[in-house]
Amino acid sequence: MKTNFHFSFFLGFLLTSLMLCVGANAAEEVEDSISPRSLVTVERGDLPIILTAPHGGADSIPNVPRRQGEGVKKFSSLSDVGTAQLGIKLADSIEHKFGKRPYVVIAHFHRRYIDANRPIDLAFEATPAAKIYNQYHEAIANARHQVAERWGHGLLLDIHGQAADPQAIFRGTQNGLTTKHLTSRFGNEALQGKTSLFGQLAQQDFRVIPAVDDTKQEHARYDGGFTVVNYGSGRGGTIDAIQLELGRSFRNADAVDRTAERIANAVFNFSNDYLPRQAIDQDKLPTSNPQELVKVAVYVDQGVERNVNDLFKALAMSPALRVDRVKAADIREGILDEYDVLIQPGGSGSGQARHLGPAGREHIRDYIAAGGGYIGICAGAYLASADYEWSLHVLDAKVIDRKHWARGRGEVEIGLTKRGRVAFQQTQPKLTIHYSQGPLLAPADRDDIEDYQVIASYETEIAKNGAPKGVMQGTTAIAQGKFGEGQVLCFSPHPEKTQGLESLVLHAVQQVCKPKKANRQLIKPAH
Ligand SMILES: [Zn+2]
Repeated sequence: MKTNFHFSFFLGFLLTSLMLCVGANAAEEVEDSISPRSLVTVERGDLPIILTAPHGGADSIPNVPRRQGEGVKKFSSLSDVGTAQLGIKLADSIEHKFGKRPYVVIAHFHRRYIDANRPIDLAFEATPAAKIYNQYHEAIANARHQVAERWGHGLLLDIHGQAADPQAIFRGTQNGLTTKHLTSRFGNEALQGKTSLFGQLAQQDFRVIPAVDDTKQEHARYDGGFTVVNYGSGRGGTIDAIQLELGRSFRNADAVDRTAERIANAVFNFSNDYLPRQAIDQDKLPTSNPQELVKVAVYVDQGVERNVNDLFKALAMSPALRVDRVKAADIREGILDEYDVLIQPGGSGSGQARHLGPAGREHIRDYIAAGGGYIGICAGAYLASADYEWSLHVLDAKVIDRKHWARGRGEVEIGLTKRGRVAFQQTQPKLTIHYSQGPLLAPADRDDIEDYQVIASYETEIAKNGAPKGVMQGTTAIAQGKFGEGQVLCFSPHPEKTQGLESLVLHAVQQVCKPKKANRQLIKPAH
């Protein structure tokens, strides 16, 4: 539901307040006779998830008359039947699934008296209602603050009911505005795609509107109200908010248990991809002091492949990192001084080099020489090599069979050296990893750069598009070297795109991190 500021009503509210102030004693008595606790359920949670439900209540409020709604746009005093119960059941189902409860703020007063999904000037017409309204919103503000403090980011779900389609759930985010933090980190996939919350709801056999991967606008009537706008990330912050408008069939008394279970499953699957991992795992990492966070810059600009979600997801697995996107212009302006690690992702090595320009490349070299960490993945490994006029020459590596760089994509086997097994905490000597035309590295034996150490070599090969067979095997797949005071670690293949190997990225961060933070524990110890 949309919210509009109505000055006439605001004035009316002010006047009412003033009149009541005259008889202050009477007003206090009235307010004390209300027992606010029973009208709003507030629970502190242990997950970075907040459930709110403003419209499901049935209770009257002493001394608060029904709202008239004069002049209020899209006024409604109808309750979203079943949503207060559903909110409680959903908290139970989430607890069942995660082993911990979410934060809960649920209104039990009827919408006739207060519309809690409106700004204060439009939400009620009688002053005694203010206390209840404030109690509801202070609880949400509190929960939001705590989630940001405890986990860095989180999700608010505002539960509603709609009468337009009994079999569907509508998504309300003001077309992505209230999930700006989420989509700026993970792209639109996280809002609209299969792995988004609504994608996961579709997997639970809910009919969702807009449909999965549909980039159409949200339904104008259900595109997100005051709560998601006010507490979501559209106005800054790191809590993303989504309004769920459920059809009648999901809210009926005999369906509500099953509905709660299905939504909890969807929230759980979404959380695995997009919420802080340590909040969901049973054994937590030691809590991080913000000053000690390892600061990671990821180059996301021209020359980088379109979809870098997998990389950000892998980095999001560690609560000890602060991860930012940086552009070529930022690097040229010296932004790397603020970071412990720079990651150059997949894409085009020469494209990245060209866009960085000589000045940007020189900044990266200086930053590493002064102790900064560098991780190159695929294109970022070409970029680090000492083989091209445009490359950084920070890893003493040449590229074998340059002519057939487009040798295809697929799964390959790599063998870890002893050093590699230690660095990546692997017990198995061989790993199957995704390859996408990364460089076949070999020592360049340059005198001005220290020799690199082999972390892993290719044991199988891909040789398509006319690439000769027998060349790829034995070349270096993962290399680590020193450049000045800094460490450089390059992956020719893609750990972040290989299910189960995402944590190699975190191990790499640990390897190249500036010494003062190198002993930070980034990864939960293996069981
Ligand atoms: Zn509603």
